[in-house]
Amino acid sequence: MKDVNAISNLVMHGTSAEVRGLMCPKCSGVLKIGVYRGRRLVSVQVKCKKCDFIIRLDGNLPEPPWVAELGTEFETKT
Ligand SMILES: [Zn+2]
Repeated sequence: MKDVNAISNLVMHGTSAEVRGLMCPKCSGVLKIGVYRGRRLVSVQVKCKKCDFIIRLDGNLPEPPWVAELGTEFETKT
């Protein structure tokens, strides 16, 4: 089971296949991953659809490499 740091790292730097394979570390549920573009900043939110697990990454982030393929909002596989 991946921890919060491992998930954060994969979401920011992983491939499309890697992020689609992620699941909630608390309940193994489906994760909803959203990338929100501000004027200069990008924020990323990872939220479980079943429990209260959530990761928010804010700040001067590069846009994750998988956005071109998966779009700015998607759900992981179960
Ligand atoms: Zn969960």
